[in-house]
Amino acid sequence: MQTTIDKALENTPEGLEAERILRSCVHCGFCTATCPTYRLLGDEVDGPRGRIYLIKGLLEGKEASNKTQMHLDRCLTCLACETSCPSGVEYGHLLDIGRQLINKKVRRTPIERFYRYLIRKILPYPGRFSFFLRLGRGVRFILPGKFRKMIPEIKHTKVPESSRHKSMHKRKMILFSGCVQPSLSPEINCATTHLLNKLGIETISSHGEMCCGAINHHMAVDDSGLSFIKNNIDAWWPYIEEGIEAIVISASGCGAMIKDYGYILRNDADYKDKAHQVSMMAKDVGEIIVAEEIETLRKMIKVNSRRIAFQNPCSLQHGQKIKDEIENLLKKLGYQVESIEDANQCCGSAGAYSLLQTKLSEKLRRKKISALEAVKPDVILTANIGCQLHLQQATEIPVKHWIEILEEDIQS
Ligand code: SF4
Ligand code: SF4
Repeated sequence: MQTTIDKALENTPEGLEAERILRSCVHCGFCTATCPTYRLLGDEVDGPRGRIYLIKGLLEGKEASNKTQMHLDRCLTCLACETSCPSGVEYGHLLDIGRQLINKKVRRTPIERFYRYLIRKILPYPGRFSFFLRLGRGVRFILPGKFRKMIPEIKHTKVPESSRHKSMHKRKMILFSGCVQPSLSPEINCATTHLLNKLGIETISSHGEMCCGAINHHMAVDDSGLSFIKNNIDAWWPYIEEGIEAIVISASGCGAMIKDYGYILRNDADYKDKAHQVSMMAKDVGEIIVAEEIETLRKMIKVNSRRIAFQNPCSLQHGQKIKDEIENLLKKLGYQVESIEDANQCCGSAGAYSLLQTKLSEKLRRKKISALEAVKPDVILTANIGCQLHLQQATEIPVKHWIEILEEDIQS
């Protein structure tokens, strides 16, 4: 795609990078049919190719409007378009540049700014988030049904002994704790710790680690996303120097973000090498477990027969390119996993999207829930806390992280 970058951006790192990405797009439109927002709204500018044109216009200095901002806001950053693009266009990276530009040029209403400010100042901070969650749980009973469903009840899960005590295995990995997951579903990381411990891997909680930075980075308001990223690199570096094997992440949204640290900091002289190393060491918990001998796992896990529908989060299948591996692992272990229709489509959770684009998000969730319920599962499994809570609000079928099922079936 031929582009004439505006003088103000020409030769800047963003301008050069955007030009490189734009050049790789041959406007074939193969991506359009896989885009959830295009499929819902049927408008070219609510699909990847249309959004690429809008971003190209911004880079060429064309007038930016609220409408352009709205079409970019409506993008889920699900990256289904990247998976279906035959030319390898890095749409997600281009969108980040486009959002930075539009947010500098178009001022949002005071209400929108305040709402976005609250999201950025509460969600990424576990202490603040946990305070508001407890507050919400306290008044849950007087809230209307829709809001009540948004506040999950406390699950009284038994924490396995081996996740409480420090194990002393030779293999050691940092277990990323995340920002909202410890308050909403601590059992996910307990199950991860327990299972990895059974596999001879000690998990370490690193001091000083914070949110992965995805919320702030994708909202593209300021550099606060970068502060989270640099903070985490500094927090993990001493452990990396001591020889830990990997950084394990049980929320695929965070995993996709951490795997992108190297790209995001590629021009930062102080951090680029460290960021690249961190990205190389970041692993979804599925990658660790899939790499184990299937026979070892079979001996550990006694499959409890259940009909399973697996919802593969966009951040796992499109962001991290982990497509069928977890479903295949579950099948090999003996679980009955049903295939669902439109498995490549987003459930509408998409980080803060469900809070910012509620109507579109609910429509996408309805579609996803129909596809999942159509196979009549006993349990719906996923790999990301955001998707898990988002889906659970709209179905009576329990929605869990797949690691929780392995944990339930583990032989004592
Ligand atoms: S599929 Fe790829 S090359 Fe074709 S229009 Fe979409 S982004 Fe461009
Ligand atoms: S990231 Fe998802 S929503 Fe955005 S353009 Fe691509 S396919 Fe569409």
